[in-house]
Amino acid sequence: MDMKAIFRPFMLGLLSATSFFAPLRSHGQEECSTEFGTAQETQLFIQRHQDFLLNEALYRSSNLGTYKWIPVFFHILRASDGSGGISLSDARSALVRCNNAYAPTFIRFFECGYQYHDNDTYYDEFDKETEQVGMVNAYNIDSVANVYIVDDLESGSGGFAKFPDVFETGLTVNNYMVIDRTNMESPEYTTLQHEFGHFFDLPHTHAWGDELVNGSNCTTAGDGFCDTPADPTLECGILGNVSCGIFVDDCDYCGSDTDANGDLYAPSTTNIMSYSCKECRTNWSPLQATKMNFTVSPDGAATRNHLNCTNCSTSLATLPPGFTGAYILGEHYHHNEIVSSADLTNATIVTSDILTLIATDRIRLLPGFDFSANDPDLHRFRGIIDPCGFDNP
Ligand SMILES: [Zn+2]
Repeated sequence: MDMKAIFRPFMLGLLSATSFFAPLRSHGQEECSTEFGTAQETQLFIQRHQDFLLNEALYRSSNLGTYKWIPVFFHILRASDGSGGISLSDARSALVRCNNAYAPTFIRFFECGYQYHDNDTYYDEFDKETEQVGMVNAYNIDSVANVYIVDDLESGSGGFAKFPDVFETGLTVNNYMVIDRTNMESPEYTTLQHEFGHFFDLPHTHAWGDELVNGSNCTTAGDGFCDTPADPTLECGILGNVSCGIFVDDCDYCGSDTDANGDLYAPSTTNIMSYSCKECRTNWSPLQATKMNFTVSPDGAATRNHLNCTNCSTSLATLPPGFTGAYILGEHYHHNEIVSSADLTNATIVTSDILTLIATDRIRLLPGFDFSANDPDLHRFRGIIDPCGFDNP
């Protein structure tokens, strides 16, 4: 049986459904301004989604244990006089939270580098329509995920990213996203992981038309995934339909909208690709996770499956003599390798009195770590992160 023959009618339905791309709820501030620019770009998305659906079973099982490391380059915009801008540590913390959010996938992020750009034009009220091409042409770096952090977006949205086949007129690259500073630095915000969802080809859960609660049109409406419930477009707060109690911030859906059949919506308020309260957005559906794994796979998107860091920055810490305690170096290179006082197998003793640990992503010294106790002749400790040191396909 030709699988494409089975899926084609569904996908043609999805194609026709795109003519009623769901308008955003009017709530003053646009949550996210990621969008498909043209009908052709929507059609390309549908083609990719079709490829994914045909391969879904394969990418649910064959990616086990194969991590794709995504090099992230921070572009920190500041005012022309050098003031303002997100702190590097806040940007790195956002990347750690992002990695935690991607734990159910085979995607992991690491910092490839960062640059400051002092330019009022892009820093203040960044205008996606008139400033995007100029900024990206000026600063973008090939083959990495470029994350631009501006002071705010003129649209008031938290940010936007590019889908794998969406290119702005005047640009031949789409390996970037632009994020509002507050959305990046506030721990309760989840904008970076949301925008990376778009970057890896996930639409909003409410993207297309009116998905029915009974799921009967789940491949042609909503987000094209049948394991995300119908979403009438969420909005956080007392005037919205999530956490709408005066004193309650419970992430509960409190809307009363019904679908075309008269069925009450029961959307997920925790899906990262929804417009739920940012602090509520904690999970992907299994198909969303699998779709992202597919996007970065060899069969996925050409703009997403060859990302590579060619000019890694290293991170280094030197601890004082006799240091005892806990320390984390390079948490933003989040990984599971833990080096503790009981496990120094990765240690390289560079000289007789300096203990040097080199790791590709993170060195965590657990409480009780005391390097001088391991060798009384050691009186200096250096930890070095070399994010290019691992085998990044
Ligand atoms: Zn979005």
